[in-house]
Amino acid sequence: MKSIDIVVPAFNEEGCLEPFYERLRPVLDGLPYRFRVLIVDDGSDDHTPEVCERLVARDPRVGVLRLSRNFGHQAALTAGLDQAGADAVITMDADLQHPPEALPDFLNAWADGAELVSGVRASKQRARLFKRLTSLVFYKVLNLVSPVKITENAPDFRLLDQKVVRALRDLREQSRFLRGMYAWVGFRQVEVKYDEHLRTAGQSHYRNRDMFLFALSAVLSFSRAPLRLATLFGLLVSGLAFAFGVYALIQNLVFHEVIRGWTSLAVLLSFLSGVQLLTLGVLGEYLGQVLEETKRRPLYLVADARLPELHGSHRPNDDQERGDPG
Ligand code: UDP
Ligand code: MG
Repeated sequence: MKSIDIVVPAFNEEGCLEPFYERLRPVLDGLPYRFRVLIVDDGSDDHTPEVCERLVARDPRVGVLRLSRNFGHQAALTAGLDQAGADAVITMDADLQHPPEALPDFLNAWADGAELVSGVRASKQRARLFKRLTSLVFYKVLNLVSPVKITENAPDFRLLDQKVVRALRDLREQSRFLRGMYAWVGFRQVEVKYDEHLRTAGQSHYRNRDMFLFALSAVLSFSRAPLRLATLFGLLVSGLAFAFGVYALIQNLVFHEVIRGWTSLAVLLSFLSGVQLLTLGVLGEYLGQVLEETKRRPLYLVADARLPELHGSHRPNDDQERGDPG
């Protein structure tokens, strides 16, 4: 029987985890796979750890990986993927926005040969209008500037074959945008539609500011277009400025009219300083990313782990090969 690891990042989900487990369990019980559920407690400061303990005590298939502090959604997912060792890994949110009932579709697509199955929100979305609009603009802009095609409306509800998981383990960038990384690794990808639901309890952890920073880091890590834009803009403005310089010289030398230029000077000056600051800002953003990457810090720290044994198949990064010979 093939094994499946379900990775569930959870940050302050005391109200969600139990309902989540209750809806997940019957789905798992009805499927012919050997499951493990790995909850990644991303430094919660509510009762999430206790809820996790209860679930671990109740069901031997459930394990928990506790990070030393809150490292963020993408890092928590990475931690889960690093621990997973099954034939395939499913990542899904703890707040039941990703319905467990969709899992059979994912697994069927995998059985049919897909190596990366992406859950795509069906058109009937229940998110707030503002979030829908910003998300639409985000994906359009991102795909305009990114060299790899990033699936729209596909959050981190995925099934990854172990080949894909292994490939992702080699991508250790700090500035992580997994959706882009899934697109970058390639493999045989298939989309599966699902109906998004409202969050079961609590609130989204992404405030508008976080969404903006997330979007910014996605663009910066997946495209050099803004840098090129800065260059193009610089070229354009320099060209215009040169033409204007010639014009001003002719005005001065041929027509001796010098006093009339104040407005144009003022406009030009402020425009040029604007462009210069913008360009510096773009450079600064990329420089900041380079700084973060050169530190080579771990993406997360594990405080403790209680993982169910994975029988049969062995973990790719396992110590087995390193064990005593014979
Ligand atoms: N999450 C996490 N660490 C964080 C923020 C969120 O592990 O710092 C988890 C959260 O518990 C949930 C998932 O990531 O399972 C998605 O987060 P959320 O529902 O807040 O985001 P939204 O669905 O609103 O985009
Ligand atoms: Mg959510």
